[in-house]
Amino acid sequence: MKLDDSLGLLFGVIAAFAAPFILLRIKRNSRRRKLLSAGLSPEEKEILTRHVSLYRRLPEELKRELEGLVRVFLDEKSFEGCDGLAIDEEMKLVIAAQACVLLLNRKTNYFPKLETILVYPSAYFARAKKKIGSQLIEDEDARLGESWNDGSLVLAWEHVKNEANDLNDGQNVVLHEFAHQLDQEDGGADGAPPLEGRTSYIKWARVLRSEYESLKMKADMGTRDVINAYGATNPAEFFAVATEAFFEKPLTMKTRHPDLYEEFREYYALDPAAWQDASGVSSNLEIGSSLTI
Ligand SMILES: [Zn+2]
Repeated sequence: MKLDDSLGLLFGVIAAFAAPFILLRIKRNSRRRKLLSAGLSPEEKEILTRHVSLYRRLPEELKRELEGLVRVFLDEKSFEGCDGLAIDEEMKLVIAAQACVLLLNRKTNYFPKLETILVYPSAYFARAKKKIGSQLIEDEDARLGESWNDGSLVLAWEHVKNEANDLNDGQNVVLHEFAHQLDQEDGGADGAPPLEGRTSYIKWARVLRSEYESLKMKADMGTRDVINAYGATNPAEFFAVATEAFFEKPLTMKTRHPDLYEEFREYYALDPAAWQDASGVSSNLEIGSSLTI
């Protein structure tokens, strides 16, 4: 067989295998475009206005974009109630809207690894291994949420509901767990979500490492910060907790952590401090939490 014939055969085999995937992608993208332009019904927007303070704070053009993202999210992800919780449309909307704030204004693949959101009525207990001194023991841990690499994410509804309503407590379990999903898109959770280009990673690592070390020192001394001390647990928790502060207390974060704020502004392609300026909402220092998220 000639070289030309061999190459022709090879390309033919590749095309035959790739064609179904390409068709699926075309079909999915076309469905997404329709859902994006369909957006939400007046009743659904009313639910978000009533229950999600972050939605109320968004500028109008971002609100419209968010409504389309939520429509796609609800079409592609499934929800399951745990411990007898019956999931309703309001719960799905409140969770989806906050998760999709993290996808606004940039190219997104809608948390590609995530398939199912498991929702407990309130904080739940899970077995965890803990190191006490030199001993590794297994114990029950109270949790508000978890983000896994296997297609699932867990949330405690009571906290989702309360934190969606309160934009001044600096805490938001939905933003926290979905930030972990972004972090996990390129593998394990390490505090660095997929960024554009090598230079971005170098700058990201320099700023976030320095801020993380500074938070660890403050946590050791018991000094409070706009970034919750839980962020001192490891770099992945730092990214998730700092994401909560970026959206919930942007003015304070911009003033006290300008370099970190700038990294997040570039990554999320959003400037929440400008929204807060426009709405005239003041910011307070956040309240600490001892629960695992
Ligand atoms: Zn976490």
